[in-house]
Amino acid sequence: MTNNMFYGIDVGGTFIKGAIVADGGKIVYSEKIPTDPDNLAECILQLCAILKKGANLTQKDICGMGIGLPGLVDTEKGVLLCAENLSLYNYPIKELVEKEIGIPVKIANDANAAALGEHLYGVGKNYRSSVMITLGTGVGGGIVIDGKLFEGNRGAGAEIGHTVIEFGGEKCSCGRRGCLEAYASATALIRQTKKAMTDNPKSKLWEIGSLDAVDGKTAFDFYALDADAKNVVDGYVEKLASGIANFINIFRPEAIILGGGVCAQGETLLRPIKKLLENEIFAYGLSPEVDIVIAERKNDAGALGAASLLIN
Ligand SMILES: [Zn+2]
Repeated sequence: MTNNMFYGIDVGGTFIKGAIVADGGKIVYSEKIPTDPDNLAECILQLCAILKKGANLTQKDICGMGIGLPGLVDTEKGVLLCAENLSLYNYPIKELVEKEIGIPVKIANDANAAALGEHLYGVGKNYRSSVMITLGTGVGGGIVIDGKLFEGNRGAGAEIGHTVIEFGGEKCSCGRRGCLEAYASATALIRQTKKAMTDNPKSKLWEIGSLDAVDGKTAFDFYALDADAKNVVDGYVEKLASGIANFINIFRPEAIILGGGVCAQGETLLRPIKKLLENEIFAYGLSPEVDIVIAERKNDAGALGAASLLIN
């Protein structure tokens, strides 16, 4: 057995996903267990024991661990500074896990780890530089430049969802206003759809039954049938495109990778974004093209990317 395998751990609010990853990005074995925020380090160690047993390996076969964490991290100190959804603050996760398991541990923000996973082993493998934007409950993402994850000072940067696209605009989950997340998350899309229905009791959107039935697909489903639905989608796409234009103009990556539930719309989402970007990308037509593509690694990018923190 060669000594080039790593644990990749992706900590979520409900589950901790883990994988043993060989250094070509091959997942040897994966498993998940419920998250217990009161005993996070113990949970991770327990998952590692399950993974090791499942893969029929011994501890000496595994030479490092990467952990993606849902919050603000200090990658240098190995501390989870703040994870609201786990109610964890200043949690020295690297030290707690490392002293028990005896192999090097690296940590990263979970969205950054997932961006690295997608870059190395998903649609991003065709590019040297990419910016990933995940459109889910929030807007996450990460930046990879020349094959390396760009995390900002001590891992606190690349907060793509909290770039401001409308100063003083809609309230964001972070407590500030006007962030991309407040317009381009699935949560924002649902909010705008419900608002359109409330504003117009005659909207065809009401055919779904009630406001409670609205999800991230509703406005897209009624796009061709209802002017209000069209307005919601057009507005959503415009805000998302303005965020994308900023990332393109700053980083000029080879690709923007979109992930998250909203991307199930495929070309219906991509086509109008690309059209809008023609006017918003600096020196469009003269400067290198930027591909806008949809992520491939839906559920395992986080664990793969976390393991790659050691490989990368
Ligand atoms: Zn924000």
